[in-house]
Amino acid sequence: MSEVKPFILGKLTWQEAKTLFQETEIAIIPVGSQEQHGPALPLDNDSFQAQEFAYLVADRLWPKIKTAVTPLISYGVSPHHMPFSGTITLRSETFIDLMVDVGKSLAKHGAKKIVVMNSHGGNTAALSIALRRLHDEEGLWCVVMEWWKLTADLVKKTFDPPHFHADEMETSVAWALGQRVLDEKRVDEPGREPVPGFTKPTMFPSPPNIMPIWDTTDFSDSGTIGYATRANPKKGQIVVDEAVKRMVSFIEKVASLN
Ligand SMILES: [Zn+2]
Repeated sequence: MSEVKPFILGKLTWQEAKTLFQETEIAIIPVGSQEQHGPALPLDNDSFQAQEFAYLVADRLWPKIKTAVTPLISYGVSPHHMPFSGTITLRSETFIDLMVDVGKSLAKHGAKKIVVMNSHGGNTAALSIALRRLHDEEGLWCVVMEWWKLTADLVKKTFDPPHFHADEMETSVAWALGQRVLDEKRVDEPGREPVPGFTKPTMFPSPPNIMPIWDTTDFSDSGTIGYATRANPKKGQIVVDEAVKRMVSFIEKVASLN
């Protein structure tokens, strides 16, 4: 989505931003990463997805429910991908400080509810610390929204496991959102297990699962963990459509909270 939309905070003047924060208490912060996504997806994939989802949702809500979409946080916590060229990671401490500073700035301008549109699983732990601080120190209502969790039922029905990284699930969703996909370069790598039987690579662990601190190279040589050759933009679109629908309906409810 390249047009200028009235919810894109970075495209507003300060006077327009002032008006927007008089009309809404909800800020959406897209958060991604700059990290390897196997041979078929670019490094910006998580960031691209976060921004696209944020824009799609804000656009669907406008003007009934107005939100302010902040500039993308394009770096995340990705030390586990550092063996792969082009990956840039923040330390968790830096990322937490960054999120807290962004949240405090938004609070100063009138935001009371922070919705983080996160597209990188490696950010989740640090986000919960940052948002806890914003909740406790600024009185902000905070939530993290992650498309794969919000649509886990549909994701499991639509895509083959492992549901992890640069796999059928992620490649299909990225493709549907308009990402650059090098389709001839897609590979399948189901993923080695560091401790066989206990450490399945998946976003949806079921027992017995004990995940040590891991590096991508524990699972994969190519950076893909899953079956990227099975990816398909039509299947991705099914999940994108449902994710947007559920995100919109969630934010409608958030807007009505006092
Ligand atoms: Zn990703």
